[in-house]
Amino acid sequence: MSENNNNFDRLVDAILDWDATQMANFVILHSLKVWASDIHIEPWEWNVRIRIRIDWVLHSLTEYQPSLHDAFIARIKIMSKLQTDEKRIPQDWVINTSLEGWWEVDLRVSTLPTVTWEKVCMRIQDKTKTIPTFKEMWIRASWLHNLETAIKKPNWIVLVTWPTWSWKTTTLYSALSVLNQDGVNIMTVEDPVEIKMAWLNQCQVVEKIWYTFPIALRAALRQDPNIIMLWEIRDKETVEIALRAAMTWHLVLSTIHTNSAVSTINRLLDMWVKPFLIAWTVNAIQAQRLVRRICPNCIEKYTPDEHIIEDIKKELEWLPDSEWLDVSKLDSIVLSRWAWCEECNDTWFKWRMWIYEVLEVDREIEEMVVAWRWELSILKRAKEKWFVTMIQDWIIKAIAWFTTIEEIFNIVNT
Ligand SMILES: [Zn+2]
Repeated sequence: MSENNNNFDRLVDAILDWDATQMANFVILHSLKVWASDIHIEPWEWNVRIRIRIDWVLHSLTEYQPSLHDAFIARIKIMSKLQTDEKRIPQDWVINTSLEGWWEVDLRVSTLPTVTWEKVCMRIQDKTKTIPTFKEMWIRASWLHNLETAIKKPNWIVLVTWPTWSWKTTTLYSALSVLNQDGVNIMTVEDPVEIKMAWLNQCQVVEKIWYTFPIALRAALRQDPNIIMLWEIRDKETVEIALRAAMTWHLVLSTIHTNSAVSTINRLLDMWVKPFLIAWTVNAIQAQRLVRRICPNCIEKYTPDEHIIEDIKKELEWLPDSEWLDVSKLDSIVLSRWAWCEECNDTWFKWRMWIYEVLEVDREIEEMVVAWRWELSILKRAKEKWFVTMIQDWIIKAIAWFTTIEEIFNIVNT
């Protein structure tokens, strides 16, 4: 706790001292230590506020007088190699910087002139974080096996997400670190390149000069690849090239924005992908989401109300009988919640874990896709066989005291 407060105190001191260099350093250091993803510097007529985004939510950090703003913005622009004298148009750049000698970080800095002064937004990418393995990403053993088999086939996999902060790229890099071996050529097409990995051929698209996803992807295919990692599938053109690549025996790893694993099929149909192509090329679809894990220092056990148990039972009704959970013991479950210790008041947001659902596109699902079956009937069939939904995975992790039930029902109901 003291360390984070220390940085915050140092920031306040720097503001009082009118020291723009130190202000910039401590804002970034503090944000890194509390696992913030973005920093906003927002001017208004009588004050400028600094807010940071932690786990989807913006928190006010501090405010300072507008008279300090010019020097502060100039300092950030110098750090980010932006033009200091240009205040009329938006600018953006990605910089790599190290703080306190060891903390290496990439900052995507964007400035925007507003009716008052320039606003700045910085997206933080901590480079010192190592890439977790699938196992460290809380993927259940049976899926782990399926996923590891799936990524070794020359077919297509789609990784999907719920909201933006689901760390989908971490999953892709985790897969690439398994696949990155002497015998294969791996090409990536990304925007931005978040992590540099040795001996991958990583390409950064630059939309401004028309070096777009489709152009980069076509060029990557001419480079004799075995595996292609495509950062995101956004449009019909990209999806067509990706499909052609998969059909010609390339493994393509990619992400797509959808709500769930099963709805990804519909999303592809919306992009005018022919059902037989989906059936032919899509191997596995994984939906994932990052949720808060309970603080291990102050975990508190309690017996839930009956209606909570009823809700849980309803969600788990379709759970396949397997390694998952002993459903007969649900009546006597004990759950966990936060007791709010000093540690988690300060860093509770740093405890995070993933929840998943993985749809394997097997022969039966393939046939249903080709026959244009409804999303709901595919979901029903998948559940009857083996499919465990993201919510079920979450509830099971809550029953195992890794997260809380309140967290689940709050998010499901919003
Ligand atoms: Zn705690």
